[in-house]
This record gives sequence, structure tokens and C-alpha cells, in this order.
Amino acid sequence: MPKKIAVLSGDGIGPEIVAEALKVLNFLNSDMSLGLSFETALVGGAAYDAFGTPLPQTTLNLCKNADAVLLGAVGGPKWEPLAHAIRPERGLLGIRSELNLFSNLRPAILYPQLVHASTLKPEVVSGLDIMIVRELTGGIYFGQPRGIHVAESGEKVGINTKIYSESEIRRIAHSAFKIAQKRHKKLCSVDKANVLEVTELWRNVMTDVGREYPDVQLSHMYVDNAAMQLVRAPKQFDVIVTTNLFGDILSDIAAMLTGSIGMLPSASLDVNGKGMYEPIHGSAPDIAGQGIANPLATILSAAMMLRYTFNLAEAAQRIEQAVDTALDTHVRTADIYSEGMTKVSTSEMGDAILNAL
Ligand code: NAD
Repeated sequence: MPKKIAVLSGDGIGPEIVAEALKVLNFLNSDMSLGLSFETALVGGAAYDAFGTPLPQTTLNLCKNADAVLLGAVGGPKWEPLAHAIRPERGLLGIRSELNLFSNLRPAILYPQLVHASTLKPEVVSGLDIMIVRELTGGIYFGQPRGIHVAESGEKVGINTKIYSESEIRRIAHSAFKIAQKRHKKLCSVDKANVLEVTELWRNVMTDVGREYPDVQLSHMYVDNAAMQLVRAPKQFDVIVTTNLFGDILSDIAAMLTGSIGMLPSASLDVNGKGMYEPIHGSAPDIAGQGIANPLATILSAAMMLRYTFNLAEAAQRIEQAVDTALDTHVRTADIYSEGMTKVSTSEMGDAILNAL
């Protein structure tokens, strides 16, 4: 089976961090005969500069024809004055909706070597390994009606609509249960079913789909409690599945538990497991071009790609293990540096992963 990967470096630190992920993938590709092939294209601000649009048709076609997309990051101050419709971020939203990437996976893993980067007590967070599955293409971010209107009284009113169809809930439920099966088989569905009917339906459908996965233990939690539990006792969770809005907020809380934005990967999947893989951080314009960005979130995104799109669990595990081994040798990029460690550049961190492999 061909394994075609569209590589979109994007803007800011994007090209620097993607280069390191490619170094790692290229090594494993020949070492394990994975059969991966790569093709690059422009997206975001770089694409706007070259073609006047953040998502050129050629880039979109490449993504559609590929089996997976590896992305750096997009955006930067240079493009902030542009109209919203042609901003770099539109390039990402365009790919997500055109490829129907409805299932957003955001792991929050705390490496024991970095336990002091967290603002929480070591005993609360050490060993943390949570996966948040966020519905990405529905809910209140897309629901109609929306907008700001002038009511009959003459007063302005703002409106957004949280809407989910049963089929939308079913497909994210299946996605989350399957991920739980690949992990510790515990799934917590987060809703606000006591107040919002839309999430009452969410809860009912989750329970229904759960009958097809008897090996996964399903629980339900209200979102306000989930936010509290995430900072109180985050290790109680294995996989969390939730709506677009709740997932947006909870995944940022979970990310901050680990204290290091440069370490966290993400995946956005379609119904067949095709996906776009990217670090959760942005293009970091403040450090772009300096060779000091942390490439590990992007390298770990590549590992997720091997696991979730290509079912190459062993290769994925080798990357994750290599990150662990490299951290054991005390190499740190500036964002995760602490006294007594060896400060390394972006490419030196990539080399440390290669050495560990
Ligand atoms: P950011 O994530 O780019 O940066 C926040 C802070 O974290 C900065 O101080 C940055 O230097 C640091 N940081 C981020 N990634 C790092 C890494 N790998 N190594 C070391 N330090 C790192 O967020 P921001 O500053 O709010 O946004 C900058 C630009 O990125 C904006 O244009 C924004 O729209 C865009 N953005 C893009 C994405 C994406 O492409 N998915 C996501 C978020 C923001």
C-alpha cells in the first residue's frame, strides 16, 4: 500500500521543526522499509506570498491525494493586517473542512524528565498520559443561525447555535472508542447534559455506541466537573471525548498540565483514518529563524501519523521511545531548559533523536 505524505511546513518556525521530523521519518523509512513517500507544498502566509491565497488549489489537491498531511504551523505578524478570508489560519481551516477531519486527537503526556515544567505538584502530574478527542467540524463553531443582529427593541443581540446530529455524534463516538481500545480502554464522555439538550442527545448516543465496545469502560462527566478534575487529579483519565467548544477549552487545560507547549503533538482524522498531523503550538514568530525552536511536538506528531493513519505502531513507538531516551541524556531546547541540562538547537535535538534511534 502506498503511503503518500503531503508535507506542509508553513510559516515561522514551521520549516525548522518539520525538517527535523523529516530527518526522523527518513531514517525510519529506510531502516524499517516503511514505504513512505513525501511531497511538499506551500500553505498559510508562505502560500499567500507566492499565490495570493493561504490554500492554493495545488496544495489542497496534494492533501486530498495524500494518505496523511504533516504540517508545521502557519501565521505571523506579517499577515495580520490581511482580511480574515485570506489569513494564513484559513489555510488550515480549509484543509480540515475539505478533508472532513472531524476527530481531533490531542494527547497530553508529561515526560518524567520534564515534571518540573508543570505548574502542578509532581505527584499530581508525573506519569500523566491523557488523550482528548475533540469533535472538530460541528457544534457551536459552525451551527446556524449565528451572527450579531439588531432586535426589534433596537438592542444588539449576538447568537450562536450548538447543534449536533445523531450521525455526527456517532462518528466521533466510534473514533473515540477505537482510540480507547488502542490505549487503556477507559473513555470519559464530557457534556453538559443537565442543562443543554444537545448534549443530552450526545450522552444518549455515546451510551448507545458504547454497547458495541464492551471492552471499553465508558463514563460520563459534566464539563465543569471535568475542568476541575483535570487540575485536581488528571491521572484518573485515559481518553476524554467531547464537543468542539468543550474540547477546545479542556485540551488547552490538559496541555498546560505538561507545562511545555513545544512537546505536544496532535492529529485530526477523517472517518477512514486519514489525517493531518501537527504540533499544537503556532508558528512562534518571536523565535523563528533562530534555530532554537523545540522540534519534539512535530516529531511526536509524525509518530502519531505512523500509529493512527498507517497502523505502524512499532515505528511510532520507536520514535516515542527515542524522545524519552534523548531527554534522559539531558539535552533540552531553550523552552524546556533547566539548570544542569545541556542546551541544544533545533537541529541538535533532531540529531539527538536520530542518535537514540
Ligand atoms: P505560538 O504557539 O506560536 O507561541 C506561543 C509561545 O510559545 C511563544 O513564546 C513561542 O516562542 C513559544 N513556542 C511555541 N512553539 C514553540 C516551540 N516549538 N519551541 C519553543 N517555543 C515555542 O502562539 P502565538 O504566539 O499565539 O501565535 C503565533 C502565530 O501562530 C499567530 O499568527 C497564530 O495565529 C499562529 N498559530 C498557528 C497555529 C497553527 O498553525 N496550528 C496555532 C496557534 C497559533
